[in-house]
Amino acid sequence: MPYESERAPRLGHVATVRNAAVASAMAQWQVTSDKPTTADDVEQLCRPLPELELVGPPTDVDFSITVDGSDTEVDTTRDHPTVKVGYLRVAGSMVRLDQFRELARARHIDPRIVRRAHGEYAFDVALPGAQLARPGMTGVDTWRFELNNFLLTGRFDSSTEMTLADGLLALHGTRGAPATEIPLRVCPSCGHRPAPEAPLTVGKLPGQCPQCSGAIFLGDVLRTHDEYNVEGSNLTPMSRVMTAAERLMTTCYLEYFAETAPEVLTHTLFITDGPLALFGPLAPLKRRLQEHLAGLTSWAADREIVGPLLVGMEKSGTFVEHAAMIEELIPPSHVMRLTNEYINKVTGRSPHNEYGHDEFYGRRFIYRTSKGDPLVITVPPAPGVEPYDGSSEAESWAAYPTLRLVCEVLDSLRTRMYDHAIVPVALAHSAAALPLGVGRSVLTMMAQQNIPGLRIDVQAVKRQLTFPGWQ
Ligand SMILES: [Zn+2]
Repeated sequence: MPYESERAPRLGHVATVRNAAVASAMAQWQVTSDKPTTADDVEQLCRPLPELELVGPPTDVDFSITVDGSDTEVDTTRDHPTVKVGYLRVAGSMVRLDQFRELARARHIDPRIVRRAHGEYAFDVALPGAQLARPGMTGVDTWRFELNNFLLTGRFDSSTEMTLADGLLALHGTRGAPATEIPLRVCPSCGHRPAPEAPLTVGKLPGQCPQCSGAIFLGDVLRTHDEYNVEGSNLTPMSRVMTAAERLMTTCYLEYFAETAPEVLTHTLFITDGPLALFGPLAPLKRRLQEHLAGLTSWAADREIVGPLLVGMEKSGTFVEHAAMIEELIPPSHVMRLTNEYINKVTGRSPHNEYGHDEFYGRRFIYRTSKGDPLVITVPPAPGVEPYDGSSEAESWAAYPTLRLVCEVLDSLRTRMYDHAIVPVALAHSAAALPLGVGRSVLTMMAQQNIPGLRIDVQAVKRQLTFPGWQ
């Protein structure tokens, strides 16, 4: 962290580039993600969208629900500038796509229509940063305690009493049969690793470690405490909590619709901010997400329902940068597959590296829209397919039956209103960045669209939503 008056690093950028040592080093290195030298490398991986399988008409997709989050660390007081509080907000934003498709064709956009066509719900939580603790607790235990409270009380939508903890339990169960307890691999307090015959499990009520008698919490399943920093920034574990909360929010919406009005799954595109992947301590959750989504897809197929429709959209990062660099090589309305070989080449990994295997529950593609913008997206595989196991099946077009439908829906949503952004993503991003006080429920708005079966919990709506504060 620089001092207030210290605006630039001591090694100014310009001076560094001119530095002889840097210049001679740069002369010997190549940027791995550089544009391929021949267009063939890219061309052979592309396919025109109309040649892919289409599982349902894009015009059937009338809604999108985008989940996005933002996080920050704030100073607590002037006296203690190193003491920080982590603050995060996760927002779900619903867009009526039929209205936006009309806007996409309009020359001038009426802000009143924009207002009517979307709703959003957000929840906020504060988590203790370094040097903040509940009386009698260590910093890391305070973190675990507050995170657990957040999961148990944080409702994914103000129209329901379903919490993020319910989402986490649903994820560890099967469609309609959520888990009641989740096994922990290791005790967060003493590091005890339970034997397979005596698993350490935890549900909504705190459990106890047989070794150290320490409390164990449902929130420990996320393992974010592994990255808690006693001194310094806790932005890393904060971002993990944000990502987990985003994925749990999406899981809750999927579960809620499957339970009350399954056909909503055909009519709604669920958009995740970032790739459909989980990194670091959250990576073990990817298997749960993959299996849960596969189970839901099979369950829906048995009822002749197409869905759920999910897509991860990346706004930044290596692949977004790479896509911008090679966009000219991808013809408009074409999708590019990213093979293991290609990914390893552009990211500077060994050719034998198995990219994404432990993290991704979908596979990444680059779609160049009909208007020419490159979108970096992830879509889930068909049930039973492991998206990054290195097999030819995982790299085939056939393994991603919803790819074309998702691309066509995204294509219909670009407007001049937002440069290089899909409308629902731009709106969700602004919802996640809003100051406190947002509260139009996505479910309430969905219910107002005359969807049969969709019941919202009126009691839940009336009750004031409260969040645990730290002291
Ligand atoms: Zn223990």
